[in-house]
Amino acid sequence: MVVNTCAFIRPAVEEAENSIREALVWKSAGRFRRVIVAGCLPQRFPDALPGQFPEVDAFLGWDDFPRIAEIVRGKVPGGIARGLPSWLPDHRLPRVISTPPFRAYLKLAEGCSNHCRYCLIPKIRGELRSRPPDSILREARRLAAQGVKELTLIAQDTTAYGNDLKSGIGLSGLLKNLDRVRGVEWIRILYAHPRGLTEELIETLAQAEKTVPYLDVPVQHASDRILKAMGRGMTGKEIRRRLQKIRRRIPTIALRTTLLVGFPGETPRDFLELMDFVREMEFDHLGAFSYFPETGTPAARLPGQVPEKVKEERKAELLSLQAEISRSRNESRIGRESEVLIEAFDPDLKITIARTPGQAPEIDGITKIYRDDLAPGSFHRVRIVDALVYDLVGEIIETSDRQPVTRK
Ligand code: SF4
Repeated sequence: MVVNTCAFIRPAVEEAENSIREALVWKSAGRFRRVIVAGCLPQRFPDALPGQFPEVDAFLGWDDFPRIAEIVRGKVPGGIARGLPSWLPDHRLPRVISTPPFRAYLKLAEGCSNHCRYCLIPKIRGELRSRPPDSILREARRLAAQGVKELTLIAQDTTAYGNDLKSGIGLSGLLKNLDRVRGVEWIRILYAHPRGLTEELIETLAQAEKTVPYLDVPVQHASDRILKAMGRGMTGKEIRRRLQKIRRRIPTIALRTTLLVGFPGETPRDFLELMDFVREMEFDHLGAFSYFPETGTPAARLPGQVPEKVKEERKAELLSLQAEISRSRNESRIGRESEVLIEAFDPDLKITIARTPGQAPEIDGITKIYRDDLAPGSFHRVRIVDALVYDLVGEIIETSDRQPVTRK
C-alpha cells in the first residue's frame, strides 16, 4: 500500500499520519505486505518519520518517485532524497491513471517561486521548475491515445508555467499546442495566479477551441493591506480589473476562486471588503479556508493572529453569501443549453452524474440527469431544467458520443 501524503499545514500532517496508522493496521492484519509512504510528509520530515513509524517499509521523497515501482517490489531499499527536490514528471515514466479513464490531470510544473508569506510549499517542493513543452505534449498525446478526453492542467501556479524556460514558451503557447492534440476534447486550467492572467493568455483562452470557458483563479483576499501582507503581489483593484477583463472577453466563462480568511491583522473592515468583493465578482464556485499559522512560514510570526472562533465565523459568513450567489447564478442557467460530459451513473440515487464545461471534476457542483443509459465519458447536449444551490439538473436534447468541441 502506498500512502501519498500532503504536509503543507499541521492539519494535513495529522491527516497523513492517521492514514499511515490506518495502513499499518491493514498491514498487521495481513492485508498488505508492505507500506510505503510517499509525498510531502517524508519530504518535509525526512529525519523524524522513520523513528515515528518504524513499521513503514520505505519512505519516498519527491526525487525518489521514479524508483517507486522497484521500491514497492522491495528490489531496492527506500530512502528519502535530502534537500529541495529537483525531479520533474516525465512522459517516459509509466503512469497509472487513478481517475476515470476519460479524464486525467496533467502536471505542467513543480515547485513555486511566488513565496506567499503563509505558504510552505516552496520550502517543500522547491522553486518553479517547468516541464519542457515537448514532454507535456507527448504525455497529452499518450493520454489521448489511452482514451482521455478531458485534461485538467495543474501546477502550484499554472500561469507561471515557462517563466524559468529559455524557450520563452508560457501557458499561452502551451495551450495553443495542446489544442491540437487529437482525441482530447476539453482542456481545463486550475490554480491560475491572477498575476499571470496576461492579455495574451486571456486572448488565447478566448480563441483556443478545446480549452473550456472555465478558470480557477485563487485570489485569497481583496483587501490591499492583507494582500500586501500575504505577499500576493497584487492589489484588490488589479485583481478586479483582470477578472472583469476575462468576463468581458469570454462572457460564458465560469470562474472559481479560493479565499483565505483570518490572516494575521485581518480586521472586520478587511473582511467586509472581502465580502463586498465576493458580492461584486459573483464567482461561480468558491472555496473558503481559515488561515493556519504554519511553522516555518513568515506569516506565522506576524502579530495580530485572529482567534479561531472569529476565523470560523468569517468563513461561514463567506460560504453562506456564496451559497446565495451560486444558487442565483445556477438559476440564471435554467432554459439554456450546454454540452455535458457524462461522469457516472449513481445506482442509489438513480441519476446520471454529468458535468458542464463550467463544472470541474471533484471540486465543483454536478449536472444531474434522470436517465440510466448514458455512457461514462460520452458527450451530449442538455437543456438545464432546474437549479439547486451548487448543482444543475439537465435533460438530454441531443445524444451523441461525439459533440463539437465547446464554443465560447
Ligand atoms: S502561489 Fe500558491 S503554492 Fe505558490 S507560494 Fe503562493 S500559495 Fe504557495
